[in-house]
Amino acid sequence: MRRCQRCGLGPGVRAIFGRFDRPEWMMVGQAPGLREIDLDRPFAGPAGKRLFGWLESVGFSEDEFRSMCYVTAVMKCFPGKGQRGDLRPSRVQLKNCGRFLGQELELVKPSVVIPVGALAIERFLGKRRLEDAIGRRFVVEVPGRATTVIPLPHPSGASAWTNAPANHRLIRRALRLIRSATSGR
Ligand code: SF4
Repeated sequence: MRRCQRCGLGPGVRAIFGRFDRPEWMMVGQAPGLREIDLDRPFAGPAGKRLFGWLESVGFSEDEFRSMCYVTAVMKCFPGKGQRGDLRPSRVQLKNCGRFLGQELELVKPSVVIPVGALAIERFLGKRRLEDAIGRRFVVEVPGRATTVIPLPHPSGASAWTNAPANHRLIRRALRLIRSATSGR
């Protein structure tokens, strides 16, 4: 992944992914931002701070969570800046990077996958409204084995869905599901 230039993003752009330390779970975000590139760590920026704050509210420290959960994204490289923040990965970029995600899933064989944000949720559950995904637990074949999938919305401060108070109940329910899934570890 580190050497891949398939999307033609230019020199210096490289894939960002988490520690591979015998993980049991997998978390899949959208794509790294500039802070993630600086620190060479997924969810290292403000969105990550909010995400790990959520997880802390149900008893996980960030270190504990990162050690049991391999963190990656549907697009491994920074897609660039647009007028309204980081660009959303294109369909071509998602397709290009999809083979890596498939290989990561085969290596980790996670018992639980946590897709974060609409693009990652679509990868595992198909296109659906966030209201029909967040706060629910699914079992899907990933890859070829029954795997629990518990989605979270994107923790970006710019996410209108995440910021809407009416959705906070669903986010809390999803976090409780993540907590209760650890009882099977
Ligand atoms: S986003 Fe994925 S496929 Fe595209 S250049 Fe980066 S690693 Fe390669």
